[in-house]
Amino acid sequence: MRIVFLGPPGSGKGTQAQRLVASLGIPQVSTGDLLRDHRKRGTALGLRAEAIMARGDLVDDATILDMVKDRLAQPDAAKGFILDGFPRTLAQADGFEALLASIGRKLDHVVLFNVDRAALVKRISGRRTCADCNRVFNIYTAPPSVPPPCGGQCTTPRLVQRKDDEEATVAQRLAVYDELTNPLVDYYRKRGLLREVDAEGDLATVTARVTAALR
Ligand code: AMP
Repeated sequence: MRIVFLGPPGSGKGTQAQRLVASLGIPQVSTGDLLRDHRKRGTALGLRAEAIMARGDLVDDATILDMVKDRLAQPDAAKGFILDGFPRTLAQADGFEALLASIGRKLDHVVLFNVDRAALVKRISGRRTCADCNRVFNIYTAPPSVPPPCGGQCTTPRLVQRKDDEEATVAQRLAVYDELTNPLVDYYRKRGLLREVDAEGDLATVTARVTAALR
């Protein structure tokens, strides 16, 4: 199954993707995680992306498309993937459509995560990520339990707040979403791919809604 999770920052795309990886048997592909990995490794792309991400702006479309193309060519993505945070612009969506067509594949679903704007800001300010395994927690809604389960990936999560989750950057990220990413809602609705999900509520309830939307 080839799926895109669409929605503003903080709408829960990453958390829900991580919850569905096992049951769907396909990987989560987060362009934000791929970029953060480049940053951690100090690659040329990571160094270039760092300032852009810190401002809450978008990395250029050609770079992102190349990165996604490489990632989707990995063997674990052959059966499908959950794309989280991509595409984010109409140019990325067009490039992605062309990429899929070139390998004779089609997108199955685009799930739109609907969350009230006020709830978003609170979610983002509570978000913490494990610096070792990238698992997402929230100090308000999904705190690590004791002993902390870290998806079997690491025993003790090292919770850090993403720099771009600080309040000053969040407003810019939401403005960028409204201007550049929101047009994708109509883009995918016109193609008959859009599935809208109420993404407010506890984690399990939202997972059940997303699962139902994928049927
Ligand atoms: P995310 O983890 O999805 O919130 O992404 C964090 C940051 O990485 C974004 O604010 C952008 O600066 C950058 N980024 C992630 N995905 C993309 C994308 N598809 N296109 C451009 N920039 C991206």
